[in-house]
Amino acid sequence: MNNHSGPPATDPIHPSRPDRIRQAGRWLSPLAWLRVLTAAFLVPYGTRPQWHCPACGTPRAGRAGPALTATGRCTRCHVAAGPGPWALEALVVAAVLLVLTGARTGLEQPAFLWFAVLGVVLAVVDGTVRRLPHALTAAWAAGTLAGLLIPAARFDRYDDWTRALLAGTVTVVIFAVCALARPGSLGWGDVTAAAGFGIALGWLGWLPLYAGTFLAFTAALVYVLARQLVRRATHLPFGPFLVGAAVLVGALLPAGR
Ligand SMILES: [Zn+2]
Repeated sequence: MNNHSGPPATDPIHPSRPDRIRQAGRWLSPLAWLRVLTAAFLVPYGTRPQWHCPACGTPRAGRAGPALTATGRCTRCHVAAGPGPWALEALVVAAVLLVLTGARTGLEQPAFLWFAVLGVVLAVVDGTVRRLPHALTAAWAAGTLAGLLIPAARFDRYDDWTRALLAGTVTVVIFAVCALARPGSLGWGDVTAAAGFGIALGWLGWLPLYAGTFLAFTAALVYVLARQLVRRATHLPFGPFLVGAAVLVGALLPAGR
């Protein structure tokens, strides 16, 4: 048994009535599935995603539903895992509200909701273990591009969609050149994340793309100076700045050219 504090383990075979209600609630909660997804990728670089509780072996995404509570504990053995209590949930709700109340039209919202929600997962993973897994950055870019086909088809905005694709490509190339020219400045996770970033902001226009890029780098620079990370030569995870700037600009800025 594990030596940990917390409530006693629940009986997974004969769950009590409140446990069954909680379990059903988690099954239906997108936030609970997002927490399982995030926790799976909170592993060191080069390691496979963790889909089981390392302490008791319970599958995190099994038939019993998401096996993590919103307070970040295994539902069976109560060992802590993943983001802190309600941290991921609060960030996701904030990002969703930003998109729903921002400048995006109804048919643009599915793409930008995908972009904001998966962006939060990416930012939390990068902020915690300093990596942007290619599986997540690829899904981020592909889902956003696919979602933007809805307003493109409905309002004949294929020129905007083509610009989004072009902007994503250009941003990846520029980030890749930076990563090659100054190794250590940008990681390859940042380079792949640049695709989703460029697509979402490129849909709005070149100006919003410049604004988002400027905001991301300025915020990262201010953070570095404030924390005096330069002297300590600490590597800074860039993902949270990239995602934060893109979600803000993507939700709030009107479409430009
Ligand atoms: Zn466990």
